[in-house]
Amino acid sequence: MILPGATLGMLGGGQLGRMFTVAARTLGYRVMVLDPDPDSPAGRIADEHIHAAYSDTWALEQLGKSCAVVTTEFENISADVLRQLSEYCPVRPSASAVEIAQNRIREKTFIRDNGLATAEFATISSEDDIEAACETVNFPAILKRAELGYDGKGQVVVEDIALVASAFSGLGKLPCVLEEKIDLEKEISVILGRNVQGESQCFPIAENVHRQGILHSTTVPASVSQRFEEQAETAAIRLADALDFCGVMAVEFFISTSGDLLVNEIAPRTHNSGHYTLDACVTCQFEQQVRMVCGLPFGDTRLLSPVTMINLLGDVWQEGSPPWSVLLSDPAVKLHLYGKQQARPGRKMGHFNYLGEDRSHAEKLFSELSHGNG
Ligand code: ATP
Ligand code: MG
Repeated sequence: MILPGATLGMLGGGQLGRMFTVAARTLGYRVMVLDPDPDSPAGRIADEHIHAAYSDTWALEQLGKSCAVVTTEFENISADVLRQLSEYCPVRPSASAVEIAQNRIREKTFIRDNGLATAEFATISSEDDIEAACETVNFPAILKRAELGYDGKGQVVVEDIALVASAFSGLGKLPCVLEEKIDLEKEISVILGRNVQGESQCFPIAENVHRQGILHSTTVPASVSQRFEEQAETAAIRLADALDFCGVMAVEFFISTSGDLLVNEIAPRTHNSGHYTLDACVTCQFEQQVRMVCGLPFGDTRLLSPVTMINLLGDVWQEGSPPWSVLLSDPAVKLHLYGKQQARPGRKMGHFNYLGEDRSHAEKLFSELSHGNG
């Protein structure tokens, strides 16, 4: 067991790293963040912040030698970096787990190989693959870059083969997956912690609403049948086992209008749809990440209150700082801001958790906040 007082390493200084840092420091750990941005959300509140490139050998050596364990908030970290670090200290999750989740071709193939359903897809690595891919996958479809996509970036909806060809060029002719566009009934996700011994515990299932490919809201309890809940948890644990995962990870699912449960993707880290746990569960996903990577027992994942989480994107800042009193004057609302200086449209600046049954109340607050300035 790695006990309080030890230094934990975090690769990536974004909001997920920041909330991990808060949880770790609350438990009495020291945190060292590696992120090239001198003003990163996590770096600013960590005990130490190395601002260097992720590939900087000197920086990796400093981090690895100073830390009892290193974890990540960022799935696009190169697996080679994780391997290099593992020469100095334990790296959780492992390079091989992250390597699968960071590439959609490997990820979807892995999900299928584990007997789980995904949307129909085909790989397009070069223009020569386009015709065959269009024969496998029904339109409308989505062309997604295999690597470095997030929040719906690197994705194009395509209706026919000509559009696939132009979208493939537009995405830089880099490896892609062509994926059937599913008629969505709902989206849900499972966040789980898995320890070094291979035991897993799931947080309550999250029901998610996306807007323009970006998570807008999460509501718990999810309004899905027990059958879907059980299937989703079983699937998520199976994937975590197959990855021999250690830490906290998320699995996103589609429920189609025809009643199929399909795995969308795996995030080898804490997840935006798990932010509700910060205020609504006994243990939040970030504390669970600390516990898992340090070899501590599980924290209780029990839900204490129904909750709706709503993301605050930079769009809300269009007219300047939003009228925070809308949120602050509601005693059932917990506001979380990530300390980012620049509000750009689509950028995740913060979120709030509304602890109550009535999801439409949370939406009403969000709409007042968004229009309060104008
Ligand atoms: P993130 O990593 O932030 O979740 P991402 O860029 O990896 O995002 P995806 O999860 O692939 O993106 O897609 C984002 C959202 O776009 C999904 O949650 C869903 O709402 C929609 N979407 C993606 N693929 C499909 C699909 N095949 N059919 C229907 N909707 C889709
Ligand atoms: Mg996603």
